[in-house]
Amino acid sequence: MNGSIGGILDQLAGQYKKGYRTSEFWVALLVGLVQMVAASFNPNQTLKAQLSNLTWVGISYILARTGLKVARLASSSRVISSVAGSSSQPQLMLADAAVASATAVAPAAAQLGKAYCWPLKPFDQMHPVRAYLNDPRMADGSRAFHFGLDISAPDGTAVYAVEDGTVDMEGAQNVAVIATDRARTFGYWHLVPAVKQSQRVHKGELLGHIAKGWEHVHFAERSAGEYINPLRSGGLAPFEDRRPPQVQRIVCSRGGQEIDPNKLSGAVDVIVEAFDRPPLPVPSPWADMPVTPARIRWCVTKGNHVVRPWHTPIDLSTKMLPQELFPVVYATGTRQNHPNAPGLFRFCIAHTWSTGLIADGGYRIEVEVSGIVHLMHGVRPMV
Ligand SMILES: [Zn+2]
Repeated sequence: MNGSIGGILDQLAGQYKKGYRTSEFWVALLVGLVQMVAASFNPNQTLKAQLSNLTWVGISYILARTGLKVARLASSSRVISSVAGSSSQPQLMLADAAVASATAVAPAAAQLGKAYCWPLKPFDQMHPVRAYLNDPRMADGSRAFHFGLDISAPDGTAVYAVEDGTVDMEGAQNVAVIATDRARTFGYWHLVPAVKQSQRVHKGELLGHIAKGWEHVHFAERSAGEYINPLRSGGLAPFEDRRPPQVQRIVCSRGGQEIDPNKLSGAVDVIVEAFDRPPLPVPSPWADMPVTPARIRWCVTKGNHVVRPWHTPIDLSTKMLPQELFPVVYATGTRQNHPNAPGLFRFCIAHTWSTGLIADGGYRIEVEVSGIVHLMHGVRPMV
């Protein structure tokens, strides 16, 4: 039993290092220990199962404290691969066991301006969004990151200014409004405009109606020449999302060919297929489309030891990435969303990772994805 307690402490200590509040850590530990004692009376339960229970209870508790529903543990955002047996080659068995991510606690990024309401009525309620910043946009050989949000609404829906400013048309159907303080420009594309070039508009004033066939307004925010994420903390509000994003697969490949994870050697690309879902349903033909998670990080472990520390190669949370990074972020096989044809988002979290840098043996890759709300809006205040 001592061994199990040691393992538990190690696991929870590992979680603690990832950013939990001290009080949450100790409460989780206490709850977990109680659970372990209870489990120890069950002779049919293996030590591994007891450890598993303990960790899950701890994580469940932390999730509950962060306002995430514990019931969502099953659709969690971290995939931990299983550990393969020893061999002369490094082995990375990529399994689909999933546990919850409880690292929804990163502080908000630097605040840019003040929060603003939705450009559709009702202004103070969330509307369905069918595409996020940095979603892949791929057509006719071009590759680009999506530079705003696609807010779903029927053609003809009225669109209003989120801030006071001056109209600066970016195309016949593309309205932009330079905010009065000139710190930000808001874009409202695919409209039949109700305003003219250089017209002064007030917050809440009609800008136009969604043009026929678009079924969304493309809403973008620019600051200092860069497109920034309207869903960041301090941006478009209200926006809430209780569901974590999902990891579908972890794949190792070389030259575009998948490699048997039991026979890894040399340099490999590590690819993660992952997605988030918008919190509100979007009508057909854009129903159930994936959107990009905000952040992906990973590490490599062997037992309780971290062989390759957590690091974050993919961060889509703050601003639009430069186009030249597209092939760095998105791996071959990525597809964008099309009507009635959900896309596939394949993130390259390591390019030519040298497996030779670690000793031969069995390892596991841990991947964690975070949604924009979980990442940017942090934990709810302690009650
Ligand atoms: Zn768009």
